[in-house]
Amino acid sequence: MTAPRIVPPATIGMLGGGQLGRYALVAARLMGYRTMVLEPDPNAPAGRVADVHLVAEYDDPDALRRLGDECEVVTTEFENPPAAALDALSRRTLVAPSPAAVAVAQNRIAEKTFLADAGLPVGPWAVVDHADADPAVEYPAIIKTARLGYDGKGQRLVDDPSAMRAAWRLLGGVPCVVEQALDLETEVSAVVARRADGGFAAYPIAENRHVDGILDLSVVPARVPARLADRAVGLAMTIADALDYVGVLAVEFFVVGGELFVNEIAPRPHNSGHWTIDVAQTSQFEQQIRAVCGLELGDTGTTRPAAAMVNLLGDLWEPDTPEWGNAVTATSALHLYGKSAARPGRKMGHLTAWGSTVAEAEVRALDARRALS
Ligand code: ADP
Ligand code: MG
Repeated sequence: MTAPRIVPPATIGMLGGGQLGRYALVAARLMGYRTMVLEPDPNAPAGRVADVHLVAEYDDPDALRRLGDECEVVTTEFENPPAAALDALSRRTLVAPSPAAVAVAQNRIAEKTFLADAGLPVGPWAVVDHADADPAVEYPAIIKTARLGYDGKGQRLVDDPSAMRAAWRLLGGVPCVVEQALDLETEVSAVVARRADGGFAAYPIAENRHVDGILDLSVVPARVPARLADRAVGLAMTIADALDYVGVLAVEFFVVGGELFVNEIAPRPHNSGHWTIDVAQTSQFEQQIRAVCGLELGDTGTTRPAAAMVNLLGDLWEPDTPEWGNAVTATSALHLYGKSAARPGRKMGHLTAWGSTVAEAEVRALDARRALS
């Protein structure tokens, strides 16, 4: 299929107003596009940088009509836009990634079924959807709601079937998956971009550390054998092709016993790709714009030998507002998303440091964060 080329000053639409949308729209504006966001929160990070902020629910028919009519392409920045909203938009304009691809990533049951059917490696898992479920999975295990989980929310670690069933009820009795808790050596992610004509680009994979289910630190390049890094990119490419994916796609992997297992996919730029803003030739956000607009994909090479990104959560505001100036050094860059309320566990910003080795970049990033409080 020939990719339609969408060029400035066309309008690019964004469903969702978080920080990922904010960066993508900044990238679009730098290129000369007009930007429009649909997001109910009037103070949302992306609303502040868009030419037009439609303050309405994601499924508001009038707002969707306007977004669809004024935008040459609409993309999204979170997993959970209502399917009906994406379908309504796709009857009026180009939606990338497609509603079908987003639907797979929205639901852990659909996602794991898709991955398993495509022959991709996933850890042991089962569906839990009734009160006396007793799936064949080893414990300890992690039960996760099929929909609407993020940053470790909607998940419980459980030690046996009865604890699993109790957790299922506490999670609202909604469809869930239960996964064997794997003994992780590490976690890595691949951030890739694919165009409608199959054109593909991949960033060096990131090595990720999570704390309480939330990404805390990403370093690039990942400290894994080259064979594993190549395989991660290959698996991400297989997934993108199978979904006929258009845009930036992130694939999270577990490393267990020296092998990769796909954890989950995110149909958008990803927190573990934030380092690309400061240390890649093309940021993942500009890449997203290039991909959905059918333009040539940018160079994914790094501008420094190594990068480390740490998240800044709302917890940092205790007891006082951080000393922001302390985190801005010759080798580190501060990013704040402009969110009004700092709640514990909420992603408020991040900072990226670089250096000649991963160890050096990591120390610099952690030092810069420590210097905030
Ligand atoms: P979210 O959508 O919240 O990112 P994930 O499924 O990626 O949910 O889980 C968040 C984190 O919890 C993972 O990155 C990993 O650190 C840990 N985790 C999740 N599932 C497992 C598992 N089956 N075994 C071991 N750790 C897990
Ligand atoms: Mg995850």
